[in-house]
Amino acid sequence: MQSTDRHTIIIGGGVIGVCCAYYLAKRGARVTVLERAQIGKAASFGNAGSITPDHPPINKPGRVSQALRSFLHPLNPLYVAPKLDPALARWLWLFSRSCTTRHLEHAMAALAPLGKTTRALFDELIEREKLKCYFRNDGYFEVYLTKQAWESAREEAAMVSRFGFHPEVISAGALREREPALNKGIVGGVFHPEAASINPYQFVLELAGRCENYGAKFRTGSEVVTLRPSGEVWNLETRDGEVLESHAVVLAGGAYSVPLFRKLGIDFPLQPAKGYHRDCTPPPGGPELLRHACVLGENMVFCTPMDGFVRFAGTLEFSGVNHEIRRGRLEQITKASARYLNTTSGAVIQSEWCGLRPCLPDGLPAIGPLARFPGLFVATGHAMMGLTLGPVTGKLVAECVLDHKPSLDISAFHPGRF
Ligand SMILES: Cc1cc2nc3c(=O)[nH]c(=O)nc-3n(C[C@H](O)[C@H](O)[C@H](O)COP(=O)(O)OP(=O)(O)OC[C@H]3O[C@@H](n4cnc5c(N)ncnc54)[C@H](O)[C@@H]3O)c2cc1C
Repeated sequence: MQSTDRHTIIIGGGVIGVCCAYYLAKRGARVTVLERAQIGKAASFGNAGSITPDHPPINKPGRVSQALRSFLHPLNPLYVAPKLDPALARWLWLFSRSCTTRHLEHAMAALAPLGKTTRALFDELIEREKLKCYFRNDGYFEVYLTKQAWESAREEAAMVSRFGFHPEVISAGALREREPALNKGIVGGVFHPEAASINPYQFVLELAGRCENYGAKFRTGSEVVTLRPSGEVWNLETRDGEVLESHAVVLAGGAYSVPLFRKLGIDFPLQPAKGYHRDCTPPPGGPELLRHACVLGENMVFCTPMDGFVRFAGTLEFSGVNHEIRRGRLEQITKASARYLNTTSGAVIQSEWCGLRPCLPDGLPAIGPLARFPGLFVATGHAMMGLTLGPVTGKLVAECVLDHKPSLDISAFHPGRF
C-alpha cells in the first residue's frame, strides 16, 4: 500500500489538527479529522493572533520566583492556583528544572528553525490558498513602562538575534511616532519585524475549507474516548460507540489530550494554561484604539488590531482544565492596557473569552512519532506558540506520517522525552 493510500485520523480540529490535515491532504493522503465540538472553537478561536517566529518559551531564569509570587498575588499575569494536584506539582517541578539559561539556549536553538520555516509557510499559504483572515505582515512592538523591564527586553532581543532573528531596540520617541496610541509613560521597546498577525479563527476556518478541497473529511461532535492498536491498524472509539479504523493517528487534542495519553498508559505532563481576551472597539466618535500590534511588556498583554476591533489578550493561569472566567484576571488585561495606551477610555467591549493553552514543562511542543506505538503521532504542547507553529507542525507531521523522515531536526520535540 502506498503511504498516501493509508488512512490517517487526526484527533482534534484546532489550528494544529487542521494544519496537519492540510499538509497531509495536499499531498494526496486520506485524512479524517475528528473533533468533539466544533472546528477551531477551543484555544485556537480567541488567541492573540500573533505570528511570532522569534518568541522564546515561557521557561526562563526568574520564572520560578515569578510563579511563587503569584500564590500571594492572584492578579499577576502568571498565576498558579494554590491547590493539591499531584500532576500540577510534577509539572511545576519539571518546569522549574528547565528555567535555566542553558535550557533557554537549547530551546531557542530547537525552535528557531521552526520559527523561520513557519513564517515562510504562512506567506505561502496566504498567497497560494488566498486565505481571507486579515493577515498583516507588519511585525509588532513590545513596549515597556520601566527601564528595568526594557533592559531585560534588550537582553532578550540580543539573545534572539543570535538565532538569526532581527529584533530592533527602539526609543520611546520613535515608538510614539510609529504608534500614536502609546502614552507618555512608555520608556522604550523592541520591534519584531519578522512577526505578523492574523484573525486566528478565520485562519483555521479558511484552512479547513482548503483541506476539504484536497479531500480531507471533518467530523464534528465526534469525541474519541479510546484508541488501541490492533495489528497494522488503530481502532478509535467515539463517545457514541462508533469504532473507526485508521493506519495512522495524530493526537492533536490541545490542552484536552491527557485522557487519551492515559488510555495508552502514558503519563504525559501536559497542563492547561488559561488565557483571556477582550475584543474592544472605540467609543462612538472616539479615536482609533491602536494601529499596530503591541505587547505590553511588563503585563504580558498582546494587543492586536483585527478586522474592526482590537483584541487584548493575555495572562497565564495554571488552574486545571476549566473554563471559568475569573473576572479580576480578565479585567487586569484592559486595566493594564490603560497604563500603556491613551485611547482606551470608553472603549466598548465586544466580547470576552478564555481558552486553554497546552503547555509542557520544558516549554517545547511535542511533535513526532511515539516509538512505543507504531502509527501514533503527537502534535500538541505548543503553549503560547500554537498559531505560530501550526503550519510547520502540520508540514512536519505530514512528513513523519508519509515519509518517516521530517525535513527539520525534531529530536528536541520528541513526545517520549518525559
Ligand atoms: C489568550 C491566548 C492568547 C494566545 N495568543 C497566541 C498568539 O498570539 N500566537 C500563537 O502562536 N499562539 C497563541 N496562543 C496559543 C494558541 O492559541 C494555542 O497554542 C493553540 O491554539 C493550540 O492549538 P491546538 O490545536 O493544539 O489546540 P485547540 O485549539 O485547543 O484544539 C484542540 C481541539 O481538540 C479537540 N479535542 C480534544 N480532545 C478530543 C477528543 N478526545 N476527541 C475529539 N476532539 C478532541 C478539542 O475540542 C479542540 O477543538 C494563545 C492562547 C491563548 C489562550
